Amino acid sequence: MIDFFMCWSDSDPFYQTYFENCSILISLAHVSQSWDISRFPVQPTKLMVDSGAFAALSNPRWTPTQSQIFNLQLNISKGSAVPTILCHLDTPLPPGNMDTMDVYRKIESTVANAYEFIQLFKSAGLPPNFKSMGVIQGNSYNTITFCANELSRAGFDHLGIGSLATIYKADIILERVRAAASVVGPDLHVFGISGLDVTAELMAMGIRSIDSSRPMKVAMYNCLLYSNPLRQYKLKDSKVKEKATIDSPLPCDCPICKKDPALIFRAGKKRYHNMRAVHNYYHLRRELEDIYRRCYVSSNLA
Ligand SMILES: [Zn+2]
Repeated sequence: MIDFFMCWSDSDPFYQTYFENCSILISLAHVSQSWDISRFPVQPTKLMVDSGAFAALSNPRWTPTQSQIFNLQLNISKGSAVPTILCHLDTPLPPGNMDTMDVYRKIESTVANAYEFIQLFKSAGLPPNFKSMGVIQGNSYNTITFCANELSRAGFDHLGIGSLATIYKADIILERVRAAASVVGPDLHVFGISGLDVTAELMAMGIRSIDSSRPMKVAMYNCLLYSNPLRQYKLKDSKVKEKATIDSPLPCDCPICKKDPALIFRAGKKRYHNMRAVHNYYHLRRELEDIYRRCYVSSNLA
């Protein structure tokens, strides 16, 4: 199974208390600076801490240095005994067309931070469960392969590819991932993926891991996911236009519905969003596992 990291902020539910084999991605932008993993009642299966750079795209005043980010990551993950991945401070590309020189300038800052991160990471003397991740940036075959080549020389344990969360065309996402994989192979983390068609293709390519915030986003829009096949309904309080309304719960074995299926129909408070997000996570995970089984069976038959 592809590794699936659930994006988490410090007001979200502890998904790992409900589910076995639950990996969590913490974005520095989504937790307070004093937060650390000792506040988790149960540790996740794997932990990834990103630099918060993507969320900061919409905040141009956010200009931390690589060493500030690294120190925050160390504070958050202090004492972690599970596989823990720290991401370097990349410079994401804003959505839309960009001047090629601007793209290369941003990639150069991504590469410069990557080398600084590796120095910091090596001199921190972290235990062996801590691994480093470089984040490849670019918006074309040439820029992505350039960045992938540079980062592959920096000495990261893992590499990922970013700036995909604002792209809604599956073929463009896949083109970019293939460009990175043509340099460093498919052992990549693909950041910010929510489409199932894309995920199926990534699994078939042999991509190592993905992350998504979809279960919580959907929950906050007062919508529900159900699996087999994955579909989305809206509660009658939802402002979402295009989805069908659901009035009563469907059969569900998730930990919330097993307690009381009416809980996922409540709206208006974060704790209700959280219960709905746990239900949505359960169904997204089930769907990913189904896709994986289909990929695995079809590749064995091929
Ligand atoms: Zn449920």
